[in-house]
Amino acid sequence: MAEKPFHADTILAHAGGGVDPATGAVVPPISPATTFVRDKDYSLTSEKHLYSRDDNDLYRQIESLVAKLENAADARLFSSGMAAIAAIMRAVKPGRSIVVQSHIYWGTTAWLRKHCAHAGIALIEADASEAEGFCDVVREAGPDLVFIEVPANPALQIADIAKTAEICQETGAALAVDATAATPLLMKPLNLGADLVVHSATKALNGHSDALGGLVSTRDANSEIWTFIREERHDAGAVMGPFEAYLLLRGMRTLALRLERMCANAEAIAEHLDGHPAVEKVLYPGLPSHPGHELAKKQMTGGFGYLVSVLVKGGAEEALKVAGNLELIKRATSLGGVESLVEHRYTIEGDATGVPKNLLRFSIGIERAEDLIADLDRALTLKRSG
Ligand SMILES: *Cc1c(COP(=O)(O)O)cnc(C)c1O
Repeated sequence: MAEKPFHADTILAHAGGGVDPATGAVVPPISPATTFVRDKDYSLTSEKHLYSRDDNDLYRQIESLVAKLENAADARLFSSGMAAIAAIMRAVKPGRSIVVQSHIYWGTTAWLRKHCAHAGIALIEADASEAEGFCDVVREAGPDLVFIEVPANPALQIADIAKTAEICQETGAALAVDATAATPLLMKPLNLGADLVVHSATKALNGHSDALGGLVSTRDANSEIWTFIREERHDAGAVMGPFEAYLLLRGMRTLALRLERMCANAEAIAEHLDGHPAVEKVLYPGLPSHPGHELAKKQMTGGFGYLVSVLVKGGAEEALKVAGNLELIKRATSLGGVESLVEHRYTIEGDATGVPKNLLRFSIGIERAEDLIADLDRALTLKRSG
């Protein structure tokens, strides 16, 4: 009988790797070497070490760890989430088309619009909070690639991964899911039929706001699109530095613990703010009132994530005032770190995406919930009293 495999949390605590057999070291070494010598008959000293644009043992350890967590056939580490996303998108040839979910991470939308215009690729943006409508768009457009983000940032819509995967299979499109806001622990898109999963490792995977990174995983290591992505990483060179790779692996050891606290805090905050007199609406997939709640319950396990968006009563001015009143929660872009952050997305996106002017997106960290709630209550009350 096969032994029961270790739980993902256990695998993460050991960073997916064992003790270095040569030295007994419990953490892997950082190797800054860019090149590796050949012996006198011109064979590589080690088959897996030629040049560090691809050959880095820390990359390999991170990739096999993430592949294990995602139930993936293979994975590749990139220098940032955007580098990972760009590698996927560049697989689509000029003259073809991409369907992308609207109202997702603005960096993806902004870059994709420019890239498609430049490369002569038809780009169709469509809302994916209603599966039927989105699937109709995919059926009609017959794209090479469909890209969704689950949960979608900043309004936290929940796209139906299994239904979208079904349509993609029917029409011959590859389905890529940006699961940054869920991490591999809360959701496994490959198990739901997605072909590729992408994460900005800059966010919760690393978790400490001190390293940029991205990851793509695949269900099929022999697919045409995976061959392209693998070669793109190797040949186009959007690779991570060895020190960042070390930080990422170190950060990932505590992912399970951090996420537990972050999700519990986010849930407590969402529940507390739901119905608050200064709040028009709370957007959190864990709230039964969220339109994607049932779907999120089906697709996610162990929590609904650490992002909470709040529509403040009033407009941009009121939202900015609340953000300005916060003392513990920091005003900064990005998400998934141990410290809670708030962002007024309209200031960044303007009218380019339809983001509500009164929306504040919170990335909830590992602080004590009572301290976060007190900070929010004070900021919202100050706003009401003038
Ligand atoms: C931040 C983010 C990205 C981009 O990642 P970088 O590491 O900043 O390049 C992509 N998708 C989502 C959902 C993100 O939050």
